[in-house]
Amino acid sequence: MNGSPPPFHNAIVGRLAARFDAAGWEALTGQALIGETSGGESTADLAVATAEAIEGDPSPLPADRVALVGEVVSSGQDGDYAEKRKWYARSGIPLYLLVDPHDGLIELYSRPENLTYRRVAPYRFGDAVDLPEPFSFSVDTSLFRVYPPEAVRWDRNPEFLRDVRIPPAPDEQKPQTDHMIQHIPHSAPRYTPCPIPPPTLKELQDTDDAGRPLEPFTAREDGVPVHCVGSPLRCCLRDIRPGERIALVSYAPLRRWAAATGAEPGAYCELGPVFIHAGACDGPDADAAGYPFARAGALRTVRRYNTDGQIAGGRFFEIPEDAESGFDAVFDEAFADPEVALVHVRALEYGCFQYEVRRP
Ligand SMILES: [Zn+2]
Repeated sequence: MNGSPPPFHNAIVGRLAARFDAAGWEALTGQALIGETSGGESTADLAVATAEAIEGDPSPLPADRVALVGEVVSSGQDGDYAEKRKWYARSGIPLYLLVDPHDGLIELYSRPENLTYRRVAPYRFGDAVDLPEPFSFSVDTSLFRVYPPEAVRWDRNPEFLRDVRIPPAPDEQKPQTDHMIQHIPHSAPRYTPCPIPPPTLKELQDTDDAGRPLEPFTAREDGVPVHCVGSPLRCCLRDIRPGERIALVSYAPLRRWAAATGAEPGAYCELGPVFIHAGACDGPDADAAGYPFARAGALRTVRRYNTDGQIAGGRFFEIPEDAESGFDAVFDEAFADPEVALVHVRALEYGCFQYEVRRP
C-alpha cells in the first residue's frame, strides 16, 4: 500500500500490540519477515515473538521465530490477504489473526499445514478473541472501530479524490425514468423460500458438511480468488455484493432437513457448493419481495422429495416474465402430490442448490 495506513487501522494494530506487550511478549509492528521454508519476504502489521526469538536483532526476522502474526485490512484498498495467509501458513507461523474493519470481523487461523490453515475461528468486533497456547489469554476487541463509509474517506492521492462520489442535492436528482425499478404493489408469494438458518450457518462457518474448515475471502469484481459477485448467498437469499466477506462451502441440505425431521434419506443425500457469509449475516431482507434469484429467462430445476427424503419427481422450467406466478405454479404442481414434503430449487446448468421450500 502507498504511504501510511489510516488512523483506525493503526489504532487497532496499536491496541493489539499493547495487549501482547502487557502479557510479556514482544509485539513488533510493521515487521519485515523472511521465510526459510516459504521463500521471500513479507511485512506484517504485527508479529509477536518471545524476547529470546529477537535476540541479536535479526532483520528481517525469520518467520519461524514468530508465534503469531496479525493483519488489519486497510481501508480504501483490498490487499491480497489470501496470498499473505498462504505465505504465513507455508512459513509455519502457528497463528494468524486477520482483522477486517470493513465489516467488523475477525478471523483467527490456526494449525498451518502446507499452503493453508486447517482451522479458522470467526469473531466479531466486541467479542473476546480466545488465543490458544502459548498465549492462553483473550484479546478484548470492544474498542475496535469499523471504518467509516467510503464517501467520507480522505486520501492524499488525487486520483482517489476524483473518485469520491458526493450524492447530488435533492433538486439535482434525475427524474425517475421508465428504466428504474417501480414499486408495484403485488400479493406475497404463496410459498416461503428457506435460507440456511442461523444456527446451521454458524456450524458451516466452523466446519462445512464435507468437514472442511472455512476459507473466507473478500468478494471482488475481478474474479480473484473466485468470480462470485452477483452469485446467490444461501444464508440471506440475495446476491453477493463486492467487498463482502464470504466463503464457498459444501452443504448437504437434505441431510440437514432429515436431521430435523427424523427422515432417513440415505443415498439421496447430496453435498454441493454454496456461498455463505463468512461472518455476521442479517438473514433475508425484510423488504425483499417475491422469490429470490428470479431473473426471467433463467433455468431452474425443482426437485421433489417425499417425507422419507427420497426423490419424488421433479421438473425443470424457465422463469417467466411474471416470475412470482411462475414459481407459485410449479410449487402448486409439486405439492399437489400428497407424497411431496419439500422441494429444492436448483440452477439447471450446474445443479447448484439455491433454496428449499417446505410443504406449507
Ligand atoms: Zn448472508
